[in-house]
Amino acid sequence: MPNLLNVDEALQIVLQHARRLPKEAASLTSALLGLVLAEDVIAEHDSPPFAKSLVDGFAVRSSDGQRDRRVVMEIVAGTMPERDLGTGEAARITTGAPLPAGADAVVMQEHVEPAGPDSIRILGEVRAGQNILPQGAEMRRGEMVLSSGTAVRPQEIGVLASLGKTAVWVHRQPLVAVLPTGDELVEPGLTPGPGQIRNSNAAMLAALIARAGGLPRYLGIGRDSPESLRPLVREGLKCDALVISGGMSVGPLDLVPRLLAEEHVIILFHQVALKPGKPLLFGVRDRSLVFGLPGNPVSSFVGFELFVRPAIRVMLGKVGPYWTKLTACWSEAFRYRTDRPTYYPVRLWWENAGWRVQAVPWLGSADLRALCRANAFACLPAGESQFAAGDAVDVLVGEPPW
Ligand code: AMP
Ligand code: MG
Repeated sequence: MPNLLNVDEALQIVLQHARRLPKEAASLTSALLGLVLAEDVIAEHDSPPFAKSLVDGFAVRSSDGQRDRRVVMEIVAGTMPERDLGTGEAARITTGAPLPAGADAVVMQEHVEPAGPDSIRILGEVRAGQNILPQGAEMRRGEMVLSSGTAVRPQEIGVLASLGKTAVWVHRQPLVAVLPTGDELVEPGLTPGPGQIRNSNAAMLAALIARAGGLPRYLGIGRDSPESLRPLVREGLKCDALVISGGMSVGPLDLVPRLLAEEHVIILFHQVALKPGKPLLFGVRDRSLVFGLPGNPVSSFVGFELFVRPAIRVMLGKVGPYWTKLTACWSEAFRYRTDRPTYYPVRLWWENAGWRVQAVPWLGSADLRALCRANAFACLPAGESQFAAGDAVDVLVGEPPW
């Protein structure tokens, strides 16, 4: 048997050909999530813009020590103090309200008791700076707050909003064409005739593309003939990437590799040592990346996660790690025999300070339902694996957390 590329070698080839896409302006909405900033973001103001109270209580001067204070004003968030705070004075203050000049501490409401009609007694000590966020403590005017290359998460969206950035430069999202192939396929809204099955891959791949941060573009079903496939492939090659499912093996109807070559796609690999999904093709034409995934739904899913998602990440401007792997322990004994490194669907959860996994029942590459019970893949080596409960195994999970 010829020496097949392993998954890591194949991924390196994909990564060598994937390019970060040019920048474009995007407005500040949740559509920014997962995109990557193509500009440094600078603070135009101090934050907080004034020293503010972190609690509800009384603004005081710490140098007054433990003596009782006269309450001379009230400062609520959204207003400015009427005047400065003098010796022996206190101001009732709410969370987020600006501190009056002269005050250097806030005493929590709970640590104060009345000492007369408009004076308070402080229980416990008063330290300078307590319960105060000084002006500019979070960020200073002119400071770089988010650097180019940062992937936008909800917290970055919040910071951008606080900076008044209603639009930012980000790397453009890749447009990824989806081309399912097969004479047996009918669209999900139709009832399959004899020998036909529903095209589940197109919907699933579009969802995988969207989840990875790409923009899916569905081309419709390609039939197993050059006449049907050629115009669709040409259309797909206008996108940043083209994901084809089915027709990748070496059967008489598996025309895709030959047709791609005729369309000047340079094929960089056509088989990878993995299960499910060995007949997996990767090629390039000009700036378009072409992925040929086996038609079986689980093979398509695995091939996408291993190779297409990392490529989309690069196009978005993200940097590694491309996969998240962690070590988990089997919750029960598990045996498996395979001729190739296998990505086996498992259920992963956290228990007693460690990750646990359990194999889900799985009938192989056509059994997509198994993936609905799973949330990760166990990485099993070729050969015989025999795990006892508690043994460790490498697990591949989706996007890195946060
Ligand atoms: P192929 O890779 O074309 O030989 O297809 C392998 C298996 O996957 C066959 O059983 C196909 O019917 C099935 N298959 C191919 N394309 C799809 C699709 N778009 N949706 C669901 N199953 C598919
Ligand atoms: Mg087929």
